[in-house]
Amino acid sequence: MIPISVGGFVKLYRQHNKSLNEQELKASLRRMARLRDRGARCEICGGSIWAIGSAVTGWNGCFTCITGESDDSDDYEVCL
Ligand SMILES: [Zn+2]
Repeated sequence: MIPISVGGFVKLYRQHNKSLNEQELKASLRRMARLRDRGARCEICGGSIWAIGSAVTGWNGCFTCITGESDDSDDYEVCL
């Protein structure tokens, strides 16, 4: 995963989502990153959660369960 700040990710995400509610996304990203850092687990497989995917989809999931892919090397993850 490529580490990115909450603000940095929202800026990227906004380029493809013009109608984005930035404040809401920022709050979700921070909440999910805090949950991840406290050891929250994927609802499906029990793996460590992917904060960005969980914030966007609205459920606690790991990268693989959210995307169906196993290679996360070119995907972002927020750091607090
Ligand atoms: Zn999972």
